[in-house]
Amino acid sequence: MKTSDPRSALWSTTAAPAPETPPLEGDRRADACIVGGGFTGLSAALHLAETGVDTVLVEAEHPGFGASGRNHGQVVPGYSKHSPDEIVAKLGKERGEALNRWVQDSAALVFDLIRRHGIDCDVVHKGWLMPAHNAERLAVARAKHDQWAARGAAVDFLDRDQTAEITGSPHYIGAWMHRGGGNIQPLGYTRGLARAAQKAGAAIHGASPALSIERGNGRWQVRTPGGTVTAEKVVLATNAYGGDLWPALAHSIVPVRLFQSATAPLSDNIARSILPQGHSISDSRRALWSFRKDRDGRLVVGAAPLFTAGVRGPVNRIVGDHIKTVFPQVGDVALEHIWDGRVAVTTDRLPHLHELAEGLYAGLGYSGRGIAMATGMGKVLAERVRGKSLAELPVPATPLRPLPLHALSIPLARLTIAWHRWQDRG
Ligand SMILES: Cc1cc2nc3c(=O)[nH]c(=O)nc-3n(C[C@H](O)[C@H](O)[C@H](O)COP(=O)(O)OP(=O)(O)OC[C@H]3O[C@@H](n4cnc5c(N)ncnc54)[C@H](O)[C@@H]3O)c2cc1C
Repeated sequence: MKTSDPRSALWSTTAAPAPETPPLEGDRRADACIVGGGFTGLSAALHLAETGVDTVLVEAEHPGFGASGRNHGQVVPGYSKHSPDEIVAKLGKERGEALNRWVQDSAALVFDLIRRHGIDCDVVHKGWLMPAHNAERLAVARAKHDQWAARGAAVDFLDRDQTAEITGSPHYIGAWMHRGGGNIQPLGYTRGLARAAQKAGAAIHGASPALSIERGNGRWQVRTPGGTVTAEKVVLATNAYGGDLWPALAHSIVPVRLFQSATAPLSDNIARSILPQGHSISDSRRALWSFRKDRDGRLVVGAAPLFTAGVRGPVNRIVGDHIKTVFPQVGDVALEHIWDGRVAVTTDRLPHLHELAEGLYAGLGYSGRGIAMATGMGKVLAERVRGKSLAELPVPATPLRPLPLHALSIPLARLTIAWHRWQDRG
């Protein structure tokens, strides 16, 4: 099975069952049509349906087919690259601080939705860590900690011993930790959002790719192979899986392939020695490595792409070596699952909200931090569909900017990651 087949992901073997999402058949009118059944689209559908908006969601495959069903499952209340001060420098005090609050609130929203809707997704809400392997990266972690702490966030700075105790690894020299973070079974969370949206009244159709979106008589018509949805408002929530549906949108982000892998369940005493309290880690390397355990004691490892064709061999070797560096107690270990997914990276590394035309909206580009941000973006998109003004939204709407020479962006991203790997050595 190819690593890009979602069935190769660990999560498809341990998630709660999927809800029924029959294909769209016939022509349907609705207040709002959402295209894409990941966190963005499902959160938008849930928040719309909960407020009585007649909502239809069409998904090309099944909820969680895209990044939402394949990711590492770390709920991170922060940005992949920026510190909160950098956001203020970019957006100004008022808009910058609004975005900073929104990023924190989006992580809290994930845990709140899980609790409120009783979502079965192995939730662990113990905290998230960014540990550092050298002094230069520790300074970056320290700055992020200090800036979030100045805003009252629930963060701690850990010395070498404290980091070793929480991670179970002798590899790091310190870390910053956000106690508001955690980890989830991402496909289970996606399916739970879909179920909650259905319960609130949204119609969700799988195997229903939107083939075109056209405007006529003041409404949008979304055409799928089995029928159409005519709606005043449409939300595009296709992120890095949007293909040719709205080419300029697809060309506004760089779709970076990220690899994930999981060991077989570790023996009890080894599993207990790794991340013993259930925290998860995204380290502070420029080409980061991430670690967590799943509910059965597997070690789940995420890495930036160094690999292209025929990846299983190199992934086994490179990940195996890195596990020995970070968690030497594991020793030689075979990987039971290897899979990949596409991350939508923006060049400014900010999430993007677009108003593409009257009544047509899109939210995407979370640059690897989409569990919190995509869930939050779905809520923001629902608020816009219900008539909130752009000025009232915490995420600034920006003009759509397709990247020139988009086809070159993928090889360029690979080169950048290779460069980051080189910078991270030592
Ligand atoms: C390997 C990997 C690891 C990651 N790890 C983390 C992590 O630990 N923490 C974190 O916060 N973020 C992580 N991310 C990022 C996060 O998963 C994404 O930001 C998030 O899932 C994006 O959600 P989404 O709903 O916007 O997009 P997606 O989940 O990609 O959903 C888009 C959906 O649109 C559908 N679609 C596309 N075209 C059409 C069409 N024409 N008609 C109908 N449907 C269509 C697709 O089938 C897909 O299901 C990771 C991503 C990857 C790939």
